[in-house]
Amino acid sequence: MQLPHALIDAERWIASCPPQDIHRIRSLCLSIQKAEYELMRQAHSYLQTCMHHCEGLCCKNVFLDEVMGFEDFCYILLLHPELSGTLHTHLNGLKGLFTSDCPFLLNGKGPCILPEAVRPEICITSFCMQTPKTDRAIADVKSHFRKLTWTIRGMRIKRLLQRLLSWPVLLR
Ligand code: SF4
Ligand code: SF4
Repeated sequence: MQLPHALIDAERWIASCPPQDIHRIRSLCLSIQKAEYELMRQAHSYLQTCMHHCEGLCCKNVFLDEVMGFEDFCYILLLHPELSGTLHTHLNGLKGLFTSDCPFLLNGKGPCILPEAVRPEICITSFCMQTPKTDRAIADVKSHFRKLTWTIRGMRIKRLLQRLLSWPVLLR
């Protein structure tokens, strides 16, 4: 189970970022949140089915490492740093090596403890039903998450190169 490590990695990475990088990725996170709100607005009727007729089956017995990861935690923590302790507490109770119910279900049942429109990409863009009214909004959320992922990767690569170039032996 990689999830607890992904959370620690995200926290360490955020803590190591200079203010200008934080500013840039936080603004990408705000764009994701805006897209998530729009998706929730357009998916209102589908979400009613989720809440009243299903009780969140897709948050149960899942491969958690495939549902969320490093970038999702960066997204959550940049918008809600105060959630760090809660995320750790819930992840500490994680059982099962493969499939498991999501640890972020309130009291193990639901609903999700994460704030509205601060959900991991897979959580908010996956439906078990056809959702023709929201295809564009789903694509929009995914595209904003892609932008966040590539920006973070770019920053990590840049930092690694800077570190290597500052190593005098390599310059000879
Ligand atoms: S997407 Fe489907 S499985 Fe998931 S909560 Fe909604 S109705 Fe249930
Ligand atoms: S984070 Fe929330 S929405 Fe996503 S699987 Fe867990 S309980 Fe469900």
